[in-house]
Amino acid sequence: MYTLKSEREISKIKDSCKIVAEVLHIISKEVVPGMTTEDVDKRAYDLTIKLGAKPAFKGYHGFPKTICASVNDEVVHGIPDSRVLKEGDIIGIDFGVVYDGWYGDSAITVPVGNVTAECKKLMKITEESLYKAIDVCIPGNRIGDIGNAVQCHVEPHGYGVVREFVGHGIGRALHEDPQIPNYGKTGTGVKLQAGMVIAIEPMVTAGDFRVKVLKNNWTAVTVDGSLAAHFEHTVAITSNGPVILTDRTHLI
Ligand code: MG
Ligand code: MG
Repeated sequence: MYTLKSEREISKIKDSCKIVAEVLHIISKEVVPGMTTEDVDKRAYDLTIKLGAKPAFKGYHGFPKTICASVNDEVVHGIPDSRVLKEGDIIGIDFGVVYDGWYGDSAITVPVGNVTAECKKLMKITEESLYKAIDVCIPGNRIGDIGNAVQCHVEPHGYGVVREFVGHGIGRALHEDPQIPNYGKTGTGVKLQAGMVIAIEPMVTAGDFRVKVLKNNWTAVTVDGSLAAHFEHTVAITSNGPVILTDRTHLI
């Protein structure tokens, strides 16, 4: 069962999401060839502490780090380590915090130096699909409309929509009900209501949508080795429509 949040509760989640947005904004601009994924993680950790929050992922089911860093064919849940980022890589950075008891969650995929036109297109289409999904977050619509919006935007490009991992409700916990798949049929699933706060997070592959989890029990990679991109926002559904709580546009 999912919970509806009051205006006051949404503003508490927004406080947490603002920190997420600020940290992601800063670290995304700092990614350069030669850094390790652990360097990116350390910077995210330090900024989180400086802003008075706690990393949400560190210790979550034993996850050891502040961010998930997923490079190239890694889809989600990559563990930061001594891997050196190379020119032409793309890195998905997924990051959440808890602040005064409330969670925020967001993800971006960024280029490392100059990347190919194929990489740029995959990132652009994936990010666009997130905004298409957010656009349908109107009370009375249904969860299937969200996934359908993602699918309709990415699949005509020959891209795959990952099935194994989904978005989620968020609030007092990092992952709450309901689940938000990135695929679906319009007019199906739970009805969206004002007061729902959800994390929408399309994971898109340049090839087949199937993924497998590596022996570290975390990192999900594409089975066919194709590139993957991941974007995520925490969104409040209100009677006036969707509000992107992890919005970064005012920071750019
Ligand atoms: Mg996330
Ligand atoms: Mg999430």
